Amino acid sequence: MIKLFPSVILKTVKGIKFYGGAIMAHIITDACIACGACQPECPVNCISEGAIYEIDQDQCIDCGACSSVCPTGAAQPEA
Ligand code: SF4
Ligand code: SF4
Repeated sequence: MIKLFPSVILKTVKGIKFYGGAIMAHIITDACIACGACQPECPVNCISEGAIYEIDQDQCIDCGACSSVCPTGAAQPEA
């Protein structure tokens, strides 16, 4: 028997997750200063370190924790 829960991703298309409705991922823009504040806040560990930080769009659950701590506004909902 297949059970469906609201938190279960039904499918992912080009980084956009569908839970029964379309869910947008968060992104990190060039405004990132690589301070690292966002990375420990991510509940699914989908932020990786680099010259600027990056979000794995396929793992992001769009919780907003990263954007709430970002000092530059670089971490933001995908437009
Ligand atoms: S929105 Fe949430 S899940 Fe997505 S990258 Fe930010 S902290 Fe992680
Ligand atoms: S909190 Fe903002 S500026 Fe700092 S690493 Fe994350 S995205 Fe970059």
